[in-house]
Amino acid sequence: MAQPAQRVDAVIVGAGFAGLYMAHRLDGLGFSLQGFEAGSAVGGTWYWNRYPGARCDVESMEYSYQFSEELQQEWEWTERYAGQPEILRYATHVADRFDLHRHFEFDTRVTEAVFDEDEDVWTIRTDTGRTVAARFCIMATGCLSSANTPAFPGMETFAGEVYHTGRWPHEGVDFSGKRVGIIGTGSSAIQAIPVIAREAAHLTVFQRTPNYSIPARNGPLDPDVQRAIKAEYPEFRARNSLMPGALGVQATMREMAAVDDDPDARRRDYEERWGIGGFAFLMGYEDLLINPESNDTAADFVREKIAEAVRNPDVAALLSPHNVIGCKRPCLDTGYYETFNRDNVTLVDISNAPVEEITPTGLLVDGVGYDLDCIVCATGFDAMTGTLQRIDIRGRGGRSLKEKWAAGPRTYLGLGVAGFPNLFTISGPGSPSVLTNMMVSIEQHVNWIADCVGHLRSEGIATIEATEPAEDEWVAHVNDVAGETLYPTCNSWYLGVNVPGKPRVFMPYIGYPPYVEKCDEVAAKGYEGFALRA
Ligand code: FAD
Ligand code: NAP
Repeated sequence: MAQPAQRVDAVIVGAGFAGLYMAHRLDGLGFSLQGFEAGSAVGGTWYWNRYPGARCDVESMEYSYQFSEELQQEWEWTERYAGQPEILRYATHVADRFDLHRHFEFDTRVTEAVFDEDEDVWTIRTDTGRTVAARFCIMATGCLSSANTPAFPGMETFAGEVYHTGRWPHEGVDFSGKRVGIIGTGSSAIQAIPVIAREAAHLTVFQRTPNYSIPARNGPLDPDVQRAIKAEYPEFRARNSLMPGALGVQATMREMAAVDDDPDARRRDYEERWGIGGFAFLMGYEDLLINPESNDTAADFVREKIAEAVRNPDVAALLSPHNVIGCKRPCLDTGYYETFNRDNVTLVDISNAPVEEITPTGLLVDGVGYDLDCIVCATGFDAMTGTLQRIDIRGRGGRSLKEKWAAGPRTYLGLGVAGFPNLFTISGPGSPSVLTNMMVSIEQHVNWIADCVGHLRSEGIATIEATEPAEDEWVAHVNDVAGETLYPTCNSWYLGVNVPGKPRVFMPYIGYPPYVEKCDEVAAKGYEGFALRA
């Protein structure tokens, strides 16, 4: 006889920073819950991405939870930008400290979520055969959690090892004495390349599109800096949350166009920001991602820096991007460009001749064979929608989310989807998510959702569902805002173009912090744009 389904108030899918905090909030509100996580432990991104050099691009004092003053006081960060092992230790500490492991079943992938309109209940099924009935289904599945490995012909014939940065072996990889090939020059590759180059006998970098990278200027975190921030952490967080993308506090943005500044003053400004390191570099002028001429001033500066760093002018030219700077999430590095001065590193331009074939002994490009012992795919993710669409999610009338999003994702605020009552997406498409310090965005979404379900309970409301008009208006707004910027000008994963067949739609919302006001206003107006049913 079939086991009756377990019944809970909420199912949470994913035990990264979003799922953990969601579990903490719902537990605090007295909701019963069941979490599922495909990995064997908590941490999400920081559980999966263990490649050499994996590190945060947001400063440690900002990339951490702020919901608990005790937590933020007791945790000691050791570096300006935390490395993956430290962030994973932090996630584990949070789960231990707030007793969150008990809410999750690990090594369990949710495969299906179906809404029953008569009962107002979601039925969630897993690959381990579990079935749970829940009033709310909360997707904390991550924006960058489905690794994208292109279907290179002949991949299965390769005699050596193939790795993806986003699915790195837990025991690590010893590259010493090995001929390594890495495909891709995005953020992951830019962090991994300098580290692998120091270890491998030879590293060949296969580059389709060069990327701008800004020095992180990472180093040990000055204890005085940490102490000073902790002395006024809530105020620091408040200032941080008012910055564009909740990124940085010390960077000052002037209300002027880069092109209008005196060229010498502008150069001094770029030089100073380059010296500080990190995202501050692109925060000096308000029009850098709006006006192509202004953008060129920053891009030219970085190209000059590449030419200074790389001794071989032909290699420097190949490493120099010509697209808009900032239309992809900027990469932060430690010695990336300088790595190409090493004798054991070769750059191969595959912009005109793609990887033809993977052979038993290596890789073939434009008729030239490269002998390799290992291949690292630093080829990114099926971002923002990929993970959600890998789950068979069915709302009203049995309509699938995949079908609804066939021409691109449609959400209201990146939080709710019309036709899918009581389904919430944390940092869903249509929210600022990947354009921000994601810890801040995650906490904002979790708090909004927790407040919302608390409100529904106290008001005796059975379902909340985004209305079609509100969703249409929001999708149009997300597109309009993107269209006023330079973001859509390059082939980024923000547009889905890195995955063959994915519709070209700008998925995140450009507008943090105004977005927070909008969410607060929606809630204050009785969840305007959502239909609430008693
Ligand atoms: P995730 O951490 O992705 O967690 C989602 C979890 O859901 C995963 O563990 C996954 O296994 C699980 N899951 C998905 N589908 C299912 C399913 N069907 N069933 C069960 N479980 C499922 N952001 C920043 O702001 N700053 C950074 O410096 C930064 N660096 C990054 C570096 C890398 C290499 C990557 C890939 C991303 C980075 N990000 C960064 C973005 C990062 O994803 C977020 O900061 C944050 O960690 C996301 O947390 P999350 O809980 O929303 O999602
Ligand atoms: P990515 O930015 O999408 O980069 C993927 C790289 O692989 C690109 O260079 C891409 O080239 C290349 N590529 C993809 N398919 C290819 C193919 N078929 N043939 C050849 N080359 C191919 O992925 P990512 O580097 O993993 O980064 C994803 C996001 O994760 C980042 O933007 C960032 O948000 C986050 N991240 C952050 C950090 C950090 O600093 N904390 C580190 C890693 C990741 P094209 O550009 O030509 O498509």
